[in-house]
Amino acid sequence: MTDIAFLGLGTMGLGMVKNLLGAGHRVAVWNRSAAPVAQAVAAGATAAPTLAQAIAGAEVVMYCLSDDAAVHAVVLAEGGLASIAEPGSLVIDLSTISPEVSAAEREAFEARGVRFLDAPVFGSRGEAEGGGLWVVVGGDADAFADAAGVLAPISETVHHMGPGGAGVRMKLVGNLVVASQLLALGEALTLAARAGLDLQAVLDVLKVTDFRSPIFDGVGPAVLADDYAPAFALKLMQKDSRLIQQFAQGLGVAVPSVAAAAHYVDAAVEAGFSDENASALIKSVAAEAGVSLAR
Ligand code: NAP
Repeated sequence: MTDIAFLGLGTMGLGMVKNLLGAGHRVAVWNRSAAPVAQAVAAGATAAPTLAQAIAGAEVVMYCLSDDAAVHAVVLAEGGLASIAEPGSLVIDLSTISPEVSAAEREAFEARGVRFLDAPVFGSRGEAEGGGLWVVVGGDADAFADAAGVLAPISETVHHMGPGGAGVRMKLVGNLVVASQLLALGEALTLAARAGLDLQAVLDVLKVTDFRSPIFDGVGPAVLADDYAPAFALKLMQKDSRLIQQFAQGLGVAVPSVAAAAHYVDAAVEAGFSDENASALIKSVAAEAGVSLAR
């Protein structure tokens, strides 16, 4: 059993906390706003009113925060986690953030003698709740080995991608594929609708072919049901598509599929769908063609 502090009880964090508790770990939780704390407490966590109280006595500190700004506020700002973490403890950042901010965290923690892993996750609300995330980790091999007992309960797989920063890099590479697949599904359904095909029959074909994808299987029926309830919010996808483009640009690599997806993500945000699911980008693809995909 490990004493864990967990910061950030959003869609992903809350599910992770429940699985850590289910595996027998002791978890103290802290969240910026109060609302989700009660749910974690109901599952057996201890509520900590401050960051300092959350990490007191913790061997491992884990967090899953929205973006670079949230990590700045909680970790890098004056009085933040990077300035109060206990030397010798292990800190694991599960957020999807820029390689630059991740590197700044690593530097700040290591300067204090705190071990740090960047460990973003693939999967969404369902995988977080079911303990079935796919985790990609960057950092020292010893720290990675020590994290096994706290990463196992939240994950189906854990990949050690290499030294510090390799996890966040892999996350952006993977999200490039997610963005491309969502755009491809939106274009395919829009074209099929315009061509007079039965969209359920189209999904039935996509489900069995050698270009099938769990994303198509999950998002396709939801689009036909006009269901854009958030599991992975569009605003987070907008953040990720910008991160991927900056990352690729810095390395001199063209990512036209992400640029195209980002165009429709931005249009969907402008249309007011920011808090809906990332698949709402498909609504802007369909709208441009004057097509409705709801059946
Ligand atoms: P979310 O539901 O929006 O939760 C975000 C968390 O960050 C909340 O706890 C929020 O606190 C906290 N936060 C935001 N800004 C903050 C600030 N300035 N100071 C302190 N706390 C702040 O997001 P999520 O879906 O759980 O995603 C979390 C991370 O995982 C993101 O980096 C996302 O890209 C990544 N991710 C998400 C998914 C997914 O499907 N949802 C999948 C893979 C990876 P409040 O409750 O107070 O707002």
